[in-house]
Amino acid sequence: MPVSRSVRFSPRFAVAALFWCAASYLPVAEAAPARADVVLRNAVIIDGSGAPAIRGDVAISGDRIVAVGSVPFSAPTEVDLRGRILAPGFIDVHTHVEDLAEVPAAENFIRMGVTTLVTGNCGGSALDVAEFFRKLEASRPSLNLATLIGHNTVRAQVMGGSFARPPTAAELDQMRTLVAAAMRDGAVGLSTGLIYLPGTFARTDEIVALAKVSAESGGLYASHMRYENARILEAIEEALTIGREAGTPVQISHIKLSTPAAWGLTQPVIERLARARAEGVQVAHDQYLYTASSTSLGTTIPDFAREGGRGRLRERLDDPAERDRIRAEMRATLQRGQRTDYTYAVIANFTEDPSLNGMSVPEAARKLYGNDSLDAQLDTILQVELRGGASAVFHGMSEPNLRAFLALPLTMIASDSGARRMGVGVPHPRGYGNNVRFLAHYVRDEQLMSLEEAVRRMTDLPARQFPLGQRGLVRVGFIADLVSFDLGRLATQSTFRDPHHYAEGMDHVLVAGQFVIRDGTVTGLRPGRTVRREARVTSTP
Ligand SMILES: [Zn+2]
Repeated sequence: MPVSRSVRFSPRFAVAALFWCAASYLPVAEAAPARADVVLRNAVIIDGSGAPAIRGDVAISGDRIVAVGSVPFSAPTEVDLRGRILAPGFIDVHTHVEDLAEVPAAENFIRMGVTTLVTGNCGGSALDVAEFFRKLEASRPSLNLATLIGHNTVRAQVMGGSFARPPTAAELDQMRTLVAAAMRDGAVGLSTGLIYLPGTFARTDEIVALAKVSAESGGLYASHMRYENARILEAIEEALTIGREAGTPVQISHIKLSTPAAWGLTQPVIERLARARAEGVQVAHDQYLYTASSTSLGTTIPDFAREGGRGRLRERLDDPAERDRIRAEMRATLQRGQRTDYTYAVIANFTEDPSLNGMSVPEAARKLYGNDSLDAQLDTILQVELRGGASAVFHGMSEPNLRAFLALPLTMIASDSGARRMGVGVPHPRGYGNNVRFLAHYVRDEQLMSLEEAVRRMTDLPARQFPLGQRGLVRVGFIADLVSFDLGRLATQSTFRDPHHYAEGMDHVLVAGQFVIRDGTVTGLRPGRTVRREARVTSTP
């Protein structure tokens, strides 16, 4: 893929960017104030930096932490945590909550201890970030929200649809202008979704040009990469090229190997990422902790068939030669993934016919056509797409691969979820359970890492990479986004077949100093804020 060589990567930036750690903060006032609104006492404080837990109290005045340690004065609100964990609120950097103003309580997230979301991922975002933030503020969400500006959103706006061609110079200029406006309004960076329309038709140089605009404002580049299958190394190379050429930190979204044909590539992927960091690309990644993914069922239909939208897909399927070509390519894609049919794909939410929700594609084919031959399965997928499309859950990953990526110190924990509506569809359980599954299953039961390290992956690490300002640490001067729980009591009942259960065990969740959950009960307070990009904190080693 041709890539512009005109933008040189600055080695000075590389050195500075390589180190983002808790030691890099400016000193904060040590003098403890004599008053506070809230004191949380007798906690096991895990501060988010990865440092060993300490016992102590935390005092909050307004929206800020004002004392950590032994707090000698009392406050109007005193809560005895009786040895429970107290940690920074979790930051979920990969969500799809463009509709948060309609579901401002976001209970699925706060029940998992999440206090800040980053949306606008996978290339899809609000186009007008200022307007998006205004609406969101008016809806008074329970938690904080930052956004990326989505490449697909910008490309569709400027090019008027989904077309397999590069933008003209004028179109690229318009796209740059839209990205610059979003960055001015506080977006944290640029996202791509290179398996989706219309981003899949973009060449690397187009993305470099736009990532440069984001980088000039201090934004990062977050990518749902072009391939998560046996071609993943090519896709990683492209993401790293964009990072180098645009001089921007790179976030690899929901890192995974999504087909059995790719499962052997874990080590080469890990080695390539390590080498990239040694070369100076500030690359990190996030992951959800399930071996199934979820996206639209239509992603199983080839790009060339979807170009131009559903109307064009219908026209192509009416042409017998085109129809055969589309079906042949779908069979070939299955084969390349070392699969024989679509048993691995389960319909999650099909608005036109909700009776198919929860059925695998073969099950849906039996219902629609009376048989589950591969032909009937292909018909099912194409019919569902023509009737408005559906989201689906794809069971395609392996547990050993998931654990290998989880072991990497730069892997954050992120759900890839929306704000859930209780009872609607059969969505992926990650939106109800991800952070709690991490802590309860992988940290407590499987002991894959210390609790301090686990908390760091959900707090300080994402707060520095994106960057989200004074969040992600229990530290004087930081915003009082906090969670408290007893590790032994954390549980998630949400499953693939029966997903609609909130996570259990978050006793207290505070956003900007106010309880959104207190003693396990949602309070109804909605103190969430919009979070605009903050200056990137870097330090010299
Ligand atoms: Zn994605």
